[in-house]
Amino acid sequence: MAHSPTPRRVRALLFDKDGTLIDFRATWLPAYEAAVMDIAGGDPARADELLTAGGYHRKTGAIDPRSLLAAGTNVEIAALWAGMAGIADAAALAASLDRRFQAHARAGIAPVGDLKALFARLRRNGYALGVATNDSESALKAQITALGIAGATDFLAGFDSGHGAKPGPGMVQAFGKALGVRPAEIAVIGDSLHDLEMGRRAGAGLLVGVLTGASDRRTLAAMAHHVLENVMEIERVL
Ligand SMILES: [Mg+2]
Repeated sequence: MAHSPTPRRVRALLFDKDGTLIDFRATWLPAYEAAVMDIAGGDPARADELLTAGGYHRKTGAIDPRSLLAAGTNVEIAALWAGMAGIADAAALAASLDRRFQAHARAGIAPVGDLKALFARLRRNGYALGVATNDSESALKAQITALGIAGATDFLAGFDSGHGAKPGPGMVQAFGKALGVRPAEIAVIGDSLHDLEMGRRAGAGLLVGVLTGASDRRTLAAMAHHVLENVMEIERVL
């Protein structure tokens, strides 16, 4: 595949959250649909315009893998929707979206498989584990706890943790520093090019795409060493 050099032995795995550990469509599309209905004052056509601008075409079910709803932060999503809806305080909208999405996740989070078993197995086999997301650190911590894997992770980073956001390399670099592993020993696993680009820029040794998010195989194969149907198969490529 496109990326080189050949990966060395991997010692640490850095996972994306949405679309990678969490089923993107099942978890987040209902939350986005409810949020835009409120912003649009209950007007479904206006709500559809907000979703479409964010990258989700409700009528066809298509999601643009590079869009804000697929890969952006809540701050970026709020800035877009505030601009379209004439809401002056985008920061307040971002805070309100963050609260709404966190509340939604407490009830509606849909993991892609038995993550507790997977993370326990990976730890038994000596891997250090982290999760890096463009969501907020507080949302990440709450959802990792809800997924039952908080005790199995060594590192958590959100866009507001001080390492920058994806596709910048900062979260991978901070992960390596915190765990004492070189970039070449890190695998980055994610459902979007944002994740793979972050890993590539940081010099991560292994880049793995997964198909439980917003991107198709062809998109991810352009940058990934491997593309898997689901992160539950990760041990096949380590
Ligand atoms: Mg993702």
